Amino acid sequence: MQFIDLNKQYAKIHAQVNARIQDVLNHGHYVMGAEIQDLELKLAEYVHAKYCIALSSGTDALLVALMALDIKPGDEIITTSFSFVASATMNKLIGAKSVFVDIDPRTYNLDVTQIERAITPKTKAILPVNLYGQCADFDVISAIAKKYNLAVIEDAAQSFGGTYKGQQSCNLGTIGCTSFFPSKPLGCYGDGGACFTDDADLAERMRQIRNHGQESRYHHVRLGLNARMDTLQAAILLVKLDIFSEEVGLRQIVAKKYDLALSNIVQTPYIEEHNQSIYAQYTIEVPERDRVIAALKDAGIPTSVHYPTPIHHQPIFKDSAAVSLPNAEKAAGRVLSLPFHPYMEDADIARVAETLARAVQKKTVSAISG
Ligand SMILES: *Cc1c(COP(=O)(O)O)cnc(C)c1O
Repeated sequence: MQFIDLNKQYAKIHAQVNARIQDVLNHGHYVMGAEIQDLELKLAEYVHAKYCIALSSGTDALLVALMALDIKPGDEIITTSFSFVASATMNKLIGAKSVFVDIDPRTYNLDVTQIERAITPKTKAILPVNLYGQCADFDVISAIAKKYNLAVIEDAAQSFGGTYKGQQSCNLGTIGCTSFFPSKPLGCYGDGGACFTDDADLAERMRQIRNHGQESRYHHVRLGLNARMDTLQAAILLVKLDIFSEEVGLRQIVAKKYDLALSNIVQTPYIEEHNQSIYAQYTIEVPERDRVIAALKDAGIPTSVHYPTPIHHQPIFKDSAAVSLPNAEKAAGRVLSLPFHPYMEDADIARVAETLARAVQKKTVSAISG
């Protein structure tokens, strides 16, 4: 069993993928070829954003967003500690301080009731992460942002394809940042990412920042990067985007089957009624996680922990080590992500459930006898 089986997807689309890769090799515009704009238009349409800027990775998308918003050294950005480290490292890279607030223990997303008290005169933005593919509570976040004149940077690296109150993720804030890393819900065959916005000015800045701050060839009006997406990755994403809506449906079906199979065994993912998660990860909580992981591994079932250490406990964020975030800290010790992809078969789901039941039961028995 594979944790995410990308070969099954490739088997389905290999003819189209190979043809589109061959097209790029034939026309030779490896950088900023026509596929880039084609993809940007289609992605913008998908998330109902006015503008999309295709980029080299999700991490670069966050950096480009921060630069476009003119976030400066000493500025503060309110964010979550329970995420992949990249959602906070770009803040640090430009000298801004990540102010971590705790999570809602059910959704693992920012506890929006704790945001306001973290605001100071230095606060410039709120950066919610839509963990495991479920959106944070953007109505509340947007209202706070409006009240204090803050930008909202949506880290949608795990939530492309997810919805919040019927609206697509990636366009829920001032700028939405996503990733097309191979294992994300929409993944390419290497690194890729994108920023989305409805603001023409920000879109223009992000386009310039992506390409050395160029306004026109060799005329550099702002500090920029090389953060362009490769044409080949855009070509691959165009094929994958064609089957994405179908995969969104398959992901919902696989998640429902898991929910049913696991309902009496463990705490299954809690999804708010107004959200549709894209299940970048299907993540449960278990006690004695190491032992459960070992039991699953013995049965040939791969798992992963997203994430074992909250960001404020990472060595690189030692300046935040004293902050107490009990929900994030507790979740980090208990969460376990199970194999999940749109093409998962019923037999595999059943095998995960049976193995997990035995592992959890054994724990109960050993607790009684010991
Ligand atoms: C994957 C991920 C990123 C970074 O995306 P890359 O494309 O790998 O650079 C940022 N934030 C979160 C929450 C992620 O899951």
